Amino acid sequence: MDSTEKLFQNLTEAAGVPGYEGEIRAVIRRYLEPMAKIEQDKLGSIIAVKRGSSDSPRVMLAGHMDEVGFMVSLITDDGFIRFVPLGGWWNQVMLAQRVVIKTSAGDVVGLLGAKPPHLLEEEEAKKPVEKKDMYIDIGATSAEEVKACGVRLGDPIIPICPFTVLAPGKTYMAKAWDDRLGCALFIQALEQLKDQPHPNTVYAVGTVQEEVGLRGAKTSVYNVNPDVAIILEVDIAGDVPGIKPEESAIKLGKGPTLLLYDARMIPNLRLRDLVISTAEENNIPLQFSAMRGGATDGGMIHLHNEGVPTVVLGVPTRHIHSHAGILHRSDYDHALDLLVKLLMRLDEPTVKGLTL
Ligand SMILES: [Zn+2]
Repeated sequence: MDSTEKLFQNLTEAAGVPGYEGEIRAVIRRYLEPMAKIEQDKLGSIIAVKRGSSDSPRVMLAGHMDEVGFMVSLITDDGFIRFVPLGGWWNQVMLAQRVVIKTSAGDVVGLLGAKPPHLLEEEEAKKPVEKKDMYIDIGATSAEEVKACGVRLGDPIIPICPFTVLAPGKTYMAKAWDDRLGCALFIQALEQLKDQPHPNTVYAVGTVQEEVGLRGAKTSVYNVNPDVAIILEVDIAGDVPGIKPEESAIKLGKGPTLLLYDARMIPNLRLRDLVISTAEENNIPLQFSAMRGGATDGGMIHLHNEGVPTVVLGVPTRHIHSHAGILHRSDYDHALDLLVKLLMRLDEPTVKGLTL
C-alpha cells in the first residue's frame, strides 16, 4: 500500500455519522497537525490554517467528515434494534448488510434484517421493504441482552466495509468515500503546499453534519469568512448499467468533475472558467456534471455574507449512499493535481476579479 492508499484506509474505515464525528475528526487531526494551525468550531468542524505568502485571499477548502449511517432509536423486548437513518438511504441497498453499533462499552456488530421472504404473501414479496420495517439483529434474544452489550438509545450505527484494492488494481472499494475522499484531497493538498510558496492562506475544513442539511458548512464558513471556496466531493458516476448518457455521462477513469449546477448552487462563472483553463493548461482531464437533485456544502458556503465565489470539484464514484462505493485512483490523483495548481493561481488580484 502506498501512502495515499494508507490514507484512504485510515479515513474510510473511521466512524463518523452526522453528529458523531469524533473518531474521524481525531484521524484527520493527526494528519493535519504537523502541517497547519488547527481550530475547531462549536459544532465540531475542524479547520486547518496554512498561511502562504499572504493573509489574503482566504481560500476555504471544504470536505465533509460525516458519512451516512443510522442511530439506535428503540430496543424491542425480544432484543432487536430499531433505528433512524442519518443521511439519505435508499431502502433497496440496505438489507442483509453488516453494521457496527459504536457503544460506550465498545463495538457491537449486527445485521440489517426484515421479515424473511418465505413468510411473505406473494404481493408483499414484490414490494421493496420500507426502512421503518427493518431492524438490526445483533444476535440477542432479549432487550436485557442487548443492553448488557452496552447498546443505548442514541448510539451511532455505521456500515461495515473494509478498504479494498479491487482486482483491476486501479479501483478501490470502501464505505464513506462520500466524503472522506474530500478530506483526503485537502490533507494531501496541504502536504504539497508545505514545500511550495502559495499566494494566499488556505483554510482546509472538515465539516460536520453535511448529510443532514449542510449544518457544519454554515457554522464553519462563519469562522473562516473566506474570499473564495472550493468544495471537494464525490460525484455520481453514470457508467453503470441502466443509465442513459443524458442522465449522466460521468465515467470512472476519465478525470475529476466540475459541477456546473446542483439543486442549491450555481458556481461563480469566472471561478468555473479558471478551473477549466487550469485543467487545460496542465493537461488534466476534466468532466462536467449537472445534478438536478442533491447539493453540497457549497449550497451554504456560497451564500455567506455578501456571497462567496465557490466551485465544486468532484471525483466520480459508483454506488454512493450505500455500504460501499468504488472509485478510480487516477481520477483522485488528477483531482489533487488540479486542486494544487488552482491554489497556486488564487492570488489577491485573481480572486478580487472573480466578483468585479
Ligand atoms: Zn458528500
